[in-house]
Amino acid sequence: MLSRIDTKTTYLGSMRPQDLLVPTAAGLCCPIAGFHIDPVRGVDRALITHGHSDHARPGHRAVLATRETLDFMRLRYGEDFAGATQEVRYGETVRLGRVSVTFRPAGHVLGSAQIAVAANGLRIVASGDYKDVADPTCAPFEPVPCDVFITEATFGLPVFRHGRPQDEIAKLLQSVRLFPERAHLLGAYSLGKAQRVLAMIRAAGYDRPIYLHGAMETLTRYYVARGIDLGDLRPVRGAPKAELAGAIALCPPSALKDVWTRRFPDPVTAFASGWMRVRARARQRGVELPLVISDHADWDGLTATVAATGAGEVWVTHGAEEALVHWSVANGRAARPLGLVGYGEEDDAQGEAGGAEA
Ligand SMILES: [Zn+2]
Repeated sequence: MLSRIDTKTTYLGSMRPQDLLVPTAAGLCCPIAGFHIDPVRGVDRALITHGHSDHARPGHRAVLATRETLDFMRLRYGEDFAGATQEVRYGETVRLGRVSVTFRPAGHVLGSAQIAVAANGLRIVASGDYKDVADPTCAPFEPVPCDVFITEATFGLPVFRHGRPQDEIAKLLQSVRLFPERAHLLGAYSLGKAQRVLAMIRAAGYDRPIYLHGAMETLTRYYVARGIDLGDLRPVRGAPKAELAGAIALCPPSALKDVWTRRFPDPVTAFASGWMRVRARARQRGVELPLVISDHADWDGLTATVAATGAGEVWVTHGAEEALVHWSVANGRAARPLGLVGYGEEDDAQGEAGGAEA
């Protein structure tokens, strides 16, 4: 929604995209309104797309984000994570000087947003991380019409096709049925993936208690407090070994190789990540049961989304930038890699990370 000021303006079309948003060392910057999107170092005003720690960092003077993203930052970094905070709802437009910004659902994790930045009739959408498939734990992704679409490219290669996540959950439950004497230890990132997997296991009809590693309790409790039913959840801490036979337990990926696993009877190790499409990654991590479940769009999702925005220009960031740039150009769009650094350090953007909370 653009304000009356924009529709009356005589500058329509005079602004170049790079005047509205420009990549800098601190992150994507809007120089005319003095804000950064997901800055990687402390800035005066930060607009944050979602709560993963590579996008949501502490130490900014002011933060504008959805309620959930602000809450995640509070839970991670404490009450004083920013000088000031402002909550924004999906679809609400906020004026920052000559620029208007609107947050739209990104379908990535609870509270995740794409940020539409508009001025003088030009609209750029910064997607943050996103996925275009159903997730029972967050609002669905909405394609936002724009002139320039800034897309992530975590899985930006045609080889990445995630398949149906329900089929992966079915594999897990099949294994639980086959090995009733073994525990199933499922590695999943603590914010978003863990709760999505829990909700999917419940949707598949599994109603026994599910056990949680201590590092997942706070964030999972938050999801439940926001009305997302995840069934009977219990801490691994204090549970007798015999009780864990035949049970499912969720833990951060890094805990899969930890001495922590010794408390489980003959555990089957599983890992839910888009990277599990790559067999070598699963082997390298010693994962017995790889589950291809990602909170990032796959190749088909990325290209379909770029097309759905109608953007004539595409900026590609964090991930396999070149292939998506090439695809965009081959499909009649201007495109360039942004070369932003500092992202992909948590969630499944990097298959090997995620140990920070373990
Ligand atoms: Zn993320």
